[in-house]
Amino acid sequence: MISPSELTKATKKEAHRLGFQLVGVTTPDPPAHLDVYVQWLDASHHAGMGWMAAERNRQRRADPLQILPECETVLVLGVRYPPPSVPPDFRGETGVVASYAWGDDYHDVLPERLRALVSFIETQAGRPVPNRCYTDTGPILERELAQRAGLGWIGKNTNLINPNIGSYFFLAEILLGIKLEVDAPFAADRCGTCTRCIDACPTNCILPNRTIDSNGCISYLTIELKASIPAELRPKIGDHIFGCDICQQVCPWNQRFARPDAGRLFRPRLEEDNPTLRHDLALSPQEFNRKFAGSPIKRTKRRGYLRNVAVALGNTGSASDIPALARALHDDEPLIRAHAAWALGQIDGDESANALTTAARTEVDEIVLTEIQSALTECYDRR
Ligand code: SF4
Repeated sequence: MISPSELTKATKKEAHRLGFQLVGVTTPDPPAHLDVYVQWLDASHHAGMGWMAAERNRQRRADPLQILPECETVLVLGVRYPPPSVPPDFRGETGVVASYAWGDDYHDVLPERLRALVSFIETQAGRPVPNRCYTDTGPILERELAQRAGLGWIGKNTNLINPNIGSYFFLAEILLGIKLEVDAPFAADRCGTCTRCIDACPTNCILPNRTIDSNGCISYLTIELKASIPAELRPKIGDHIFGCDICQQVCPWNQRFARPDAGRLFRPRLEEDNPTLRHDLALSPQEFNRKFAGSPIKRTKRRGYLRNVAVALGNTGSASDIPALARALHDDEPLIRAHAAWALGQIDGDESANALTTAARTEVDEIVLTEIQSALTECYDRR
């Protein structure tokens, strides 16, 4: 029978072969920082992500054995994706998409590799091994498990940072009903006196205890939030249309170690997929589905994505964007109409006010009408 030491060595080698750059092993012991997580929930810093606070998930996060009673070992894996410099020039008339979303959806790419690793372990062990695989999908505190498995430390920006590759990587975990050799935790905090991420965050949502108030996080607002983006936060979103990398971009560990050629599994998709704000605001449901099939961006659905595009145009657009926004004022989706109205209120020009006035005559949705009135006020105040 293979020893835990031999099995660990063989498993790590196979994980590297499957494309994971980081591999560590820890125990299924209850997380030491569960109290921080519970306080975060109690303060409603998870915003509208209600599934995080569900009682069943709270219990499972408190103890991995609640998920897999036979669990003896947790394998934690990291897989790199290219940093935002790839492709290098997609700002200007196009919006900013977080770098993790430039490639294929990791929810589609990683599970088959995790299953392949489990098969490998079962073959080596000569028996079925109870297991549970997660790719950002399970009720476990994955960054703490990763720190315990020696993969890095949890930075002030709340990302797991590895001292050799920075923080542009996905985490995945496999709970295993078999013993492996456990790695030493990553004990050091290499943030030191640096506060660059906290200083750079446009919405000041990074809290002193290494958590984030999701209510203000641009990633939350542009990906997870399904409803209207609070008006006071819209200007701070800038040209971000899906996620945000600012707290990673300013981190010295990424500036030093992030490599454009890293992450072969998540190469950016075809260049014609780059978002152009004006163009994307006119995407039909069919065009949206076609364009973002297999991309993480499909998570927002068309209504969320076009909402974000409208906000980005409001923040960065010019008079030449007014016709596209005026058309969006007549979209079937009220959420898109409301944000197009706001955007028109941000762009100077008589055409903005004319488009808003015309739309107000036929608009029946109360929320959209309120947005149109506010936008018209903005237009008139500028005169
Ligand atoms: Fe830590 Fe500085 Fe990186 Fe923030 S920017 S995570 S404080 S090293």
